[in-house]
Amino acid sequence: MVAEVLVEIKARNVDKCFSYNIPQNLIDKVKIGIRVSVPFGKQNIEGIVLNIKESNEKDLKDIKDVIDEEPILNGELLELGKFVKEKTLSTLISCYLAMLPKALKVGSKNKINKKYEKIIEIVKDYKDIKLNDKELLILKEIENGNNKKTDLLKINSSLNTLIKKDIVIVKEVEVYRYKNSSGTDRVHELNEEQKEAVKSITESSNNISLLYGVTGSGKTEVYLKLIENCLSMGKTAIVLVPEISLTPQMVNRFTARFENKIAVLHSALSDGEKYDEYRKIAKGEVEIVIGARSAIFAPLKNIGIIVIDEEHSTTYKQENNPKYNTIDIAIKRSQTHNAKLVLGSATPSLETFARAYTKKINLVTLKNRANNKGLPKVEIIDMSKEKKEGHLSKRLVEEINDKLEKKEQIVLLLNRRGYASFITCSNCGYVSKCPNCDITLTYHKSSDMERCHYCGYAKKRDDICPECHENAIKNLGVGTEKVEEELEKTFPGARIIRMDFDTTSTKGAHEKIISAFRDHEYDILLGTQMIAKGLDFPNVTLVGVINADTSLMIPNFRCSEYTFDLLSQVSGRSGRGEKEGIVVIQTYNKDHYAIKLAKEQNYIEFFNEEMKIRRTMGYPPYTYLISIKVMSSDYNLASKESSFLAKKLKENIKSEVLGPSIGSNFKVKNIYKFGLIIKYTKDDTIYPYLEKCLEYYKSNSKVSIDIDFNPINIWQY
Ligand code: ADP
Ligand code: ZN
Repeated sequence: MVAEVLVEIKARNVDKCFSYNIPQNLIDKVKIGIRVSVPFGKQNIEGIVLNIKESNEKDLKDIKDVIDEEPILNGELLELGKFVKEKTLSTLISCYLAMLPKALKVGSKNKINKKYEKIIEIVKDYKDIKLNDKELLILKEIENGNNKKTDLLKINSSLNTLIKKDIVIVKEVEVYRYKNSSGTDRVHELNEEQKEAVKSITESSNNISLLYGVTGSGKTEVYLKLIENCLSMGKTAIVLVPEISLTPQMVNRFTARFENKIAVLHSALSDGEKYDEYRKIAKGEVEIVIGARSAIFAPLKNIGIIVIDEEHSTTYKQENNPKYNTIDIAIKRSQTHNAKLVLGSATPSLETFARAYTKKINLVTLKNRANNKGLPKVEIIDMSKEKKEGHLSKRLVEEINDKLEKKEQIVLLLNRRGYASFITCSNCGYVSKCPNCDITLTYHKSSDMERCHYCGYAKKRDDICPECHENAIKNLGVGTEKVEEELEKTFPGARIIRMDFDTTSTKGAHEKIISAFRDHEYDILLGTQMIAKGLDFPNVTLVGVINADTSLMIPNFRCSEYTFDLLSQVSGRSGRGEKEGIVVIQTYNKDHYAIKLAKEQNYIEFFNEEMKIRRTMGYPPYTYLISIKVMSSDYNLASKESSFLAKKLKENIKSEVLGPSIGSNFKVKNIYKFGLIIKYTKDDTIYPYLEKCLEYYKSNSKVSIDIDFNPINIWQY
């Protein structure tokens, strides 16, 4: 028998199956989906068996050994990997690696072992045997279920005599490292809207539904009900959340309701814990998997429902190869299993809402808040009318003082998505945009130019604002530290805690800050975007947004969408408890539709406005984008090759090609990057041609290319 083994040799760009002979001693052990060690050139490497066949190929080398007892990927997942490859044009092996926990990856250096524990079992009827009190105590403990050897020895040492007398024996059993923290959960009788939602999702002939409902409308309760129904039919469920560490309450609700039927997969788990959770799933010991993006690959069988909560979140796009989009994978798996797919959000991505709007997927709406709490009052402050120094408006200072006096808490958001460096008018808030792409121009200090990261347009920076004609153009960008200083000065005595990239870089720091703030050890929480989501503090009655504009100016066609989403999210943070909440949004763009409509929490109107712009400018959902990076350590070569590739693409595909352009960080680790963008609607010339390009650059050691379908970031910051 011959096995086809998929191997990975990074340096040589090998992503191919090679045939190996299965020696007699391994014939029962080699299975499809199992890892094996095989000779390759002078060394031994690892690979995955993709096929086993009869063959009369001659001179094949033998498989050296098998690594696993059971396949690490089942038939469905092996097929799914091929689908991911087709969608992303990545190597097949990278697709499989993305599906597996570290411990099961091919060629993984750190081997992780199963964890065993010694337990004691009674094997003899001891009623007629004469035993002392100590021994009887131990036997009682075992009968009560306390059977761990280490625990029993702590009680007294007569366990050893019991072993000698052959009344009990020691057994080794595997234990799982991860323990679910048990949460609390109240089961609610669903209200009419929720019942209607469950019915619509269950009965719709369309397996994909968008559950659109403002925060607090009871979406989670709907998921729980759907899953319960699903389990009662003997099926399983996958629940995806954007970042599990930011949504502990949500996970707690699931673990509380479904207890030991659940496996959790997320980045805060140790490699050992992930390994255990993964095998628990593969062995069919759990019925629900809850996790972040990669949990979509969980080896569950008989899936009845997949839930993607906060479906608009950018964390569902994988930024490394394979650059897959989780929703694509979820659709594929739901088709394979004939399972329901529920996409939930208060601010759906435009792509998803457009599909619901045009009835390609089933639209289910929750209009009211389940707990009958109103939305908080939102005030917009026009910063161009405030005094020029400092970042705090009169109104915000007034409100902060008021809440401090009442011993209530305050969350302040400093809107800072990456380090986008753009220039803006400090008088009127004007920013310059690309005349071709409607994208904010990015300021490049070294050349003193403003550049478009989409098409490459560039212009010299000007000190005079073209709108208000003041000499007030500045490179704007505030850090949390600076605002913290200002807060300390303005509110002496207030206890302030800062949460940003710097203060949360150590493990567990994030949770510490959150719980300290929850326990009211601090009055003001100042933070970046990371504070916006999922947090639920009953004593917070004021949410302030220091600068609503920054996210409007990131060089991304989705900037308005991000801003609307962010402001809607933070607004939901105020007044969660019994006390009424207020939100103060500071901006230079008080008339911008994203800001005005976020104040009203009017998603539908926002959708309509934004769709008009997307249509005019030809952006998704009206088109699809592909971002291509051309990279080389040689600047001239990267530049020349990107122009060459642009020309070739224009000749060979039907769609529009933008660029080459350079980003502000176009030189990273001495590699120069140039970018191209393909904008298309329907074009079957693209995939085959891009495959050719990849093949062409594979053997080029000086230039490489990277392709990202439906990119989140055109240029990373
Ligand atoms: P979402 O997921 O849309 O933000 P949740 O499901 O978390 O909403 O519900 C918001 C709040 O309302 C929670 O505190 C939840 O316990 C409560 N809730 C949800 N459904 C009901 C219901 N049918 N009756 C009473 N309270 C409910
Ligand atoms: Zn442009």
